[in-house]
Amino acid sequence: MKKNVFFNTQSDADWKPYPDYHAPTIGMNVGSFLIHTEKRTVLVDTGLGKLDHHLDQTTRETLVGEIAAAGFQPQDIDTVFLTHMHMDHVGTNMTETDQGWFPTFPNARYVVSKADWALFGSRVNTRPFAYLKEQIQPLIDADILDLIEGEINITEEITTLPTPGHTPGHTSLLISSEGEKAVIVGDAAHVPPQIEETQWSPAPDRDKDRSAASRKMMVDLIEKEHALIASGHFPSPGFGNIIRVDSRRKFIPIS
Ligand SMILES: [Zn+2]
Repeated sequence: MKKNVFFNTQSDADWKPYPDYHAPTIGMNVGSFLIHTEKRTVLVDTGLGKLDHHLDQTTRETLVGEIAAAGFQPQDIDTVFLTHMHMDHVGTNMTETDQGWFPTFPNARYVVSKADWALFGSRVNTRPFAYLKEQIQPLIDADILDLIEGEINITEEITTLPTPGHTPGHTSLLISSEGEKAVIVGDAAHVPPQIEETQWSPAPDRDKDRSAASRKMMVDLIEKEHALIASGHFPSPGFGNIIRVDSRRKFIPIS
């Protein structure tokens, strides 16, 4: 996508310290995360799937195959957590078969914020949001979508971290296990420079000030807790840490 369209309030001078982002276009990964705890298997976001989304997308519908490569089947997943209701995060909730549409993860409860459904629920029958009718409404109809608010425990190890702004109910996840922490950031940040420039809110952020405040809160927490960053949109695999260089934060990717 075009960098100046996506980050429409940043100038070329703003990008100067980030040589990886000097080109006029930005490529973005669309990643999901699978968390396997002692008792539970949680999938975070379901990608773009086969949706007709008019995006320049090099590969499609790899999620179920990648889950299989990790040693899991769709029926093993007991919770599908959706960070928010944009199309690149919900696209494999449902799958079409010869017998019709079915939840891709048949044994899962799906979880999303109440605040996102309050907004996106009113758009189900509008054309640009046709994906909601295909990928979200059937979950409501089947009563397998849980609408949550605030900080709640998804499992013993996973707590929701509300980071509103990108969407009204955008929610990141904080994972604590054996003394270590990780944060699945969702779209509270789209590119690594935003870890350093928390005030950069891109065009799709519905409330840019709120998004910037959430991003700052989240990055402060990540730094304080020495948490691992996990991002679906950062260059794959999307993991990294924050270090301080000359009093500035810096994102260091882990390959
Ligand atoms: Zn996204």
